[in-house]
Amino acid sequence: MGQTQSSPPPDREREQENARRRREEEEENARRRREEEEENARRRREEEEEEARRKREEEEDARRKREEEDARRKRDEEDAKRKKKEEEAKRQKEEDAKKKKAEEDAKRKKEEEDAKRKKEEEDAKAKFESHKKMMEQLKGQPQLPKFAVPKRYDIWLKPNLSTCKFVGSVAIELNIMVDTSFIVLNVAELSIDTASLSFTHHPATANSSNSNQVLKPLYVDVVEEDEILVLDFADALPIGIGLLTITFKGTLNDKMKGFYRSTYEHNGEKKNMAVTQFEPTDARRCFPCWDEPACKAMFKITLDVPSQLVALSNMPIIEEKVDGDLKTVSYQESPIMSTYLVAIVVGLFDYVEHLTSDGIKVRVYCQVGKVNQGNFALDVAIRTLELYKEYFAVPYFLPKLDMVAIPDFAFGAMENYGLVTFCETNLIYDNQHFAAANKQRVVIAVAHELAHQWFGNLVTMDWWTHLWLNEGFATWVSYLAANHLFPEWEVWTQFLNDCTEGLRLDGLTESHPIEVEINHAREIDEIFFDTMSDKKGASVIQMLQSYLGAECFQRSLASYIKKFACSNAKTEDLWAALEEGSGEPVNQLMNSWTKQKGYPVVSVKVKDRKLVFEQSQFLASGSLGDGQWIVPITLCRGSYDVHKNFLLQTKSETLDMKELPSDGSKLASSWVKLNVNQTGFYRVKYDEDLAAKLRYAIENKYLSATDRFGILDDSFALCMARQQPLNSLLTLMGAYSGELEYTVLSNLINISYKVERIAADANPELLECIKQFFITLFLRSAMKLGWEPKKGESHLDAMLRGEVWTALAVFGYDPTLKEASRRFHAFLDDRNTPLLHPDIRKAAYVAVMRRVSSSNRFGFESLLRVYRETDLNQEKTCVLSSLTSSPDPSIILEALNFLLSSEVRTQDVVLGLAVSREGRETAWAWLKDNWEHISKTWGSGYLITHFVNSIVSPFASFEKANEIEEFFANRAEPKISRTLKQSIEQVHINANWVQSVKNE
Ligand SMILES: [Zn+2]
Repeated sequence: MGQTQSSPPPDREREQENARRRREEEEENARRRREEEEENARRRREEEEEEARRKREEEEDARRKREEEDARRKRDEEDAKRKKKEEEAKRQKEEDAKKKKAEEDAKRKKEEEDAKRKKEEEDAKAKFESHKKMMEQLKGQPQLPKFAVPKRYDIWLKPNLSTCKFVGSVAIELNIMVDTSFIVLNVAELSIDTASLSFTHHPATANSSNSNQVLKPLYVDVVEEDEILVLDFADALPIGIGLLTITFKGTLNDKMKGFYRSTYEHNGEKKNMAVTQFEPTDARRCFPCWDEPACKAMFKITLDVPSQLVALSNMPIIEEKVDGDLKTVSYQESPIMSTYLVAIVVGLFDYVEHLTSDGIKVRVYCQVGKVNQGNFALDVAIRTLELYKEYFAVPYFLPKLDMVAIPDFAFGAMENYGLVTFCETNLIYDNQHFAAANKQRVVIAVAHELAHQWFGNLVTMDWWTHLWLNEGFATWVSYLAANHLFPEWEVWTQFLNDCTEGLRLDGLTESHPIEVEINHAREIDEIFFDTMSDKKGASVIQMLQSYLGAECFQRSLASYIKKFACSNAKTEDLWAALEEGSGEPVNQLMNSWTKQKGYPVVSVKVKDRKLVFEQSQFLASGSLGDGQWIVPITLCRGSYDVHKNFLLQTKSETLDMKELPSDGSKLASSWVKLNVNQTGFYRVKYDEDLAAKLRYAIENKYLSATDRFGILDDSFALCMARQQPLNSLLTLMGAYSGELEYTVLSNLINISYKVERIAADANPELLECIKQFFITLFLRSAMKLGWEPKKGESHLDAMLRGEVWTALAVFGYDPTLKEASRRFHAFLDDRNTPLLHPDIRKAAYVAVMRRVSSSNRFGFESLLRVYRETDLNQEKTCVLSSLTSSPDPSIILEALNFLLSSEVRTQDVVLGLAVSREGRETAWAWLKDNWEHISKTWGSGYLITHFVNSIVSPFASFEKANEIEEFFANRAEPKISRTLKQSIEQVHINANWVQSVKNE
């Protein structure tokens, strides 16, 4: 605004002044207001600016903060990222390391595994090599290695009698003895379930950490030719007790050994039974085992069998559980015993029983319907057990004794501990249907097997080398028992038949010592089937007993039994006991008889009133052997009261007659007899003068039956060995005219058969004359005995009757043939006729067959009918042993073929092989024609030897010997080799004898 300034008037001036001042004031105020406003505006602006600045600052802060935040986050993120990256890297690194390590590990592991596998392969290879090496060592050994020893067998068997198969299992508690991975035991003809094989170790302490460790074998080998089962485990087995389990299958065979089938008829139906025969080495055919006599163990047997059958084993039954058609039978555990004595019989039987004074239950089991025929054996068994308890001074060891008749049986009997098995003909008897000879057979068989319950079962041979002692002793003691039970039978005289058989076989070049080393298990059979060992064994025991005296012998024997009860012993152990009891050099004395073959002939002659003795080996061939023995010489002069005993230890010895006082007035009768009562196992050759005196003594009955027997038998043997002419023998035989003593006359008859055959070969024209001589020799005795039993007559007369009439029939004495025929016809009409007593049946059958020819077959066919109709085995065997007596070769052939038919039991065939003199060529041709079948059927047992021996031995020409040798050249099996050699040697002996008789 624009205003112009002018000087105001005094009132007016004052008003002007006031106006001016008011204007100034207003102006001032305005200016102040403006200033204030400006100030305010400025302040406001400042505030706004401030605000804006603050805001800006705030924003800045916030931005910065945000930026910072972002940066921090970013940093964080980066950190995290980095960290993550780092971690990842680290992890990666770790993983890499780990991977690397794993790879390295894997590599190392692979290397290790490779090395391990390689080592394992090498180990396995080494193991296999060592296994193979050991297998080679195990083959062909006579005995099992004793890596483990069995303590106890738990056997289960289930035979099927329809299919003839069996299944079984065995758990054998063993003691592992040495550090080895091998277990070796016997097995034969069994199929072993390999998967079932296991061995469980039982640590000695119950709280042991590795308890019941179950091991499976790495290698399982069956070596058939050695009959062993070899188990080889990965590592050595822990020493100590363990359990070996095996399951297996087998067949009830038809070979009469192991676990086999026998047949019987019941109500007209043919049935099977299951039977065992283990001696010597056939337990292994029934269950895997340590099949050696010294490996004694306890046996616990369980059988699953048809519930209607009788099932027997060594021990009494403790439990029988019937489940329908089957029953499970458990038997009490046995005391320790050898495997060959374990036995089982399953079949249909009846029994009779009795208790001994000690409460032992004794039973005889027979076929149903025949049980009454078991009573005699039962009575004999009870009385024999009582006798043996005294004799051995130890009671019978088991709680029961069963004796069972088995229809198919390869041997006479078998002494299984507590369960004795018998061929029926050796166990059953009654006085109505059987001959006196059958009765005696039963007594000897029962007494023999029961003797084994002590001598054999309680004290067992250590090894088969000592088998001769086992058998020889049982045979010897069986005579002791029979003599005790039936003194009137004079069985000690009959014992000479056993001695003679032993002397005959041991006089062959092809003989062997009775105590033999066994180099392979196969050889056991050979000695087991060898009768010479039994017979010579019994004879040398008899010689020793009579040298030491009965009382001393029995006392020493009892101490031996006591010492070795439930254990095993060697021959030397018995000698040691006898040496201790007697003070005599028993071992040295007996070794000369058991460890070398053969025996001496002691020649005795009188020179300058001295008796000169000289020993040399007797050989039936007539050649000289170089053996020498310690011979217990016994002699009498003129009387049994004048006697002298000494040991002939050198080649020769002299004895002054002055040492043997004699009644001078009876000089003619002052005979000298060596080997008094024939207790020594040797032969005696007297000079002519001494022989004449003995002949005189025989004629005048000065000598005992045993001595009469011995003089005759020695003379016969010397004649066969061409050390004496046939004439001397016949002269001596003449001195026995009217002889009635059973054993002596029986031997005289046997010798006459052999002489007849030699005479027929040497001088057929002489034959009739010789026959007539024998008829005359025996007729007196025959007439005295008659055809029928006499009231109150002796057992021996009853036995003799049959033999004498048989002899007269064989020599063709016409009245005998006629009378026999008459009686036979009566028998055909009435099987109970008194005209044909069982004692003379054989004589009648032989007489009937002597008249049979292809144009006159009646007798032959009648006998076959008798055979088919009877159910008595004794009757059947009697027919069989007569059928080949015909002089007609075509009938002989028919009879021989009948033997091979299914109508004849396997073991009975051998009874028909002793053919008539006229039939020997036919028999030989038949043997050749049927050899393949015969060898297949009988080749696994000892029966095959009978075929060879019976058919070959009767020949008497060198040409025949060659022919026989040629035939067998590529057919000789080990089982027959010894018999064949002996039989051919006999043919040579006969041939030489024939030559010498021709030259007489
Ligand atoms: Zn025996």
